[in-house]
Amino acid sequence: MMDGEVFAKYREAGRINAEIKAELMRKARPGMGIMDLAELVDGMIEQAGAKPAFPVNISINEIAAHYTPTPNDGIEIKDGDMVKFDVGVQVDGYIADSAFTYCSQKNELVETVNKAITRGIAAVKPGAQVRDVAGAIEGVVKDAGLGLIVNLTGHYVDRYMFHAPPSIPNVKNQVSHEFREGDALAIEPFVTPTNGFAKETSITEIYRYLQDRPVRLPEARLALAMARDDFSQLPFAKRWLLKKFSPVKVSMALRQLESVGAIETYPALRESSSKLVAQAEHTLVVTGTGHFVTTEVGD
Ligand code: MN
Ligand code: MN
Repeated sequence: MMDGEVFAKYREAGRINAEIKAELMRKARPGMGIMDLAELVDGMIEQAGAKPAFPVNISINEIAAHYTPTPNDGIEIKDGDMVKFDVGVQVDGYIADSAFTYCSQKNELVETVNKAITRGIAAVKPGAQVRDVAGAIEGVVKDAGLGLIVNLTGHYVDRYMFHAPPSIPNVKNQVSHEFREGDALAIEPFVTPTNGFAKETSITEIYRYLQDRPVRLPEARLALAMARDDFSQLPFAKRWLLKKFSPVKVSMALRQLESVGAIETYPALRESSSKLVAQAEHTLVVTGTGHFVTTEVGD
């Protein structure tokens, strides 16, 4: 059973997340710069009195995940682009993690991923098993003649833990872990034309605190304290540090912190053969009889 106050915080984080997604859906259109959209997300989270659970991921076409605008990002949405917005909000450490795909044109991948997540969520109830989710999702995707990114999964969430075990795969698996009332988790299928997998690129804009380590550069020491305290050991964007330091100092500080193992990196992930990718994601809490989706728009 989940404590009532904890549930209220998951709900509040989810409500804010849903409002942000609704605003992104209204604002996203060809010609719009993704930096403006990222700043809109950062501003709305702050205005709501919440904090980011991670920097908004805005991943386009064959980029599956983990892209967030660079400090001087000039990328604009183009007609027909498959744009995945993945938004993370936390209230007192309780996380809402949710994504949708915007495309200016009607698209089969987007329609299928939306259908697949609905069926995947429906499989979550007390006593059901993690592997039942993949069964539901894969059924929809196979019926549509499409595929999934096989190495990206849903996951549990916990306080200040944006990825907690177990993972919730989208393809056939033997994970017999049973859902229990009070569990909080995210379901997130990634649909592609045929089964594919996500591979790291050389682009890194997202980092996370790992451990305190001695570093020489004063900016590195300050950045590490920010990663630990201001960003609550959750993922952060390089551009967030530019409010404090110059671009050169930010790059030097992050390089130094990475080399001593004080922070970890989240490189942008690309579909390995450059296939288009559509994503959908919701966070839910398992209830006595089923589940409550915290991040649904129009609540
Ligand atoms: Mn997400
Ligand atoms: Mn997630």
